[in-house]
Amino acid sequence: MLRDEKLYEEINEAVFSLPIFDTHEHLLDEKDRRESNLDFSLFFMQYAGTDLLTSGLTEEEFVIFQDPKTDVQKKWSCFSKHWPNIKNTSYCKLILEAIKDLYGFEDINEKTFIELSEKIRKTRDVNWYDRVIKDKSNIKMVLNHLENIPQAYNTVLDREDIRPVINLDEIICTCCREDILEWEKRFNINIYKLQDLLGAIDGIFAEKDETGYKAVKTTIAYMRSLQFEETTFEEADKVFSGLFKLKSYGFLEKKDFLSKDELKPLQDYMVHYIIQKAVEHDLPVQIHTGIFELLYNDVSNSNPVYLTNLFFKYKKCKFDIFHAGYPYSDQLIAVCKQFPNVYFNMCWIVGISASLYKDILNRLIEIIPSNKIFGFGGDYMFVEGLYGSQKLARRSITELLYRKIEQKYFTFEESIDFAEKILYLNPKKVYGL
Ligand SMILES: [Zn+2]
Repeated sequence: MLRDEKLYEEINEAVFSLPIFDTHEHLLDEKDRRESNLDFSLFFMQYAGTDLLTSGLTEEEFVIFQDPKTDVQKKWSCFSKHWPNIKNTSYCKLILEAIKDLYGFEDINEKTFIELSEKIRKTRDVNWYDRVIKDKSNIKMVLNHLENIPQAYNTVLDREDIRPVINLDEIICTCCREDILEWEKRFNINIYKLQDLLGAIDGIFAEKDETGYKAVKTTIAYMRSLQFEETTFEEADKVFSGLFKLKSYGFLEKKDFLSKDELKPLQDYMVHYIIQKAVEHDLPVQIHTGIFELLYNDVSNSNPVYLTNLFFKYKKCKFDIFHAGYPYSDQLIAVCKQFPNVYFNMCWIVGISASLYKDILNRLIEIIPSNKIFGFGGDYMFVEGLYGSQKLARRSITELLYRKIEQKYFTFEESIDFAEKILYLNPKKVYGL
């Protein structure tokens, strides 16, 4: 059947003119970007860069490729051996889409990489974030996660349209005496017992109006399973006291630490504690579930179904569950259908695969109430990734809604209302911005 081009264009125009509330990025400060030595390797610091590693670039080569001091010619010779193997993936298609629209190049190749790198460097002279986030992407608000990101020098971006989230994973994962010393320095307190560390956490929440935090975010599934059992304060405190019995070797830079199994009661307790604080301060809780960035991790740790006990217990908490729980998306859909306090977040998915994004969204349309779906988060550290993601998300939504109208599942108006809710109104309401 031939496509009804007029209908498609009408949907396309409506979807591309909607504002977006972006639930998740890792955008670096524009000040830092202006001070760094930019070139085309910027677009491979995440995701597409991991594809380079998966396809065979060694970790040593990757370090050289990402080093700002490496000559761009040398970067090209490192990169060009692997580029033909990775340019089929969505990660790379997204980058190419952004390069085409923002820099006017159809490809990264031996004829373009130098000129492209020069053009990227020129963005330091203009208000590039304004141009890309506001003008080109029509994004009204971004929830940005920078803490624990090694490249983030400043944790809070000085922009009206970017708000930070609190990440306490490092504290939850305290495992040695050196960690405790670090928190004593950071919070300017003495820590003799668990209660002292919990007090520091209380302080972070109490200051949320000054710091502007709009959510709590955890990526702890990168480190351990998402099963957070009921644990008493006494059990947690016992583990915490054990940290003080560990040896420290001073200048030898060796340290003793507790194993993951030993630490579990303490970590479980702190996760529950932090959720209680989030409820008290009316902050939604964002949880990484499903697929991981970087190499070598155990995806079976990150099944969102493990979180069910939390969803039951903390009915007043708004849980924003990330990355569609993929590859456990069907399980997450089933959970979201049962729990009014659980929201289904599609962030990062369109970058992984636009077809996957459409497949999951198609199920969501038919299975769960529309107010529980958050349609967009790019999950990028550089704005070009955000631009490419929102473009692919808008295009995927258009294609899917066109199909739903053809099937007479939605009228035209219903389809655009749905798009506006998932891209803008739903997260705006939940995050109260
Ligand atoms: Zn992320």
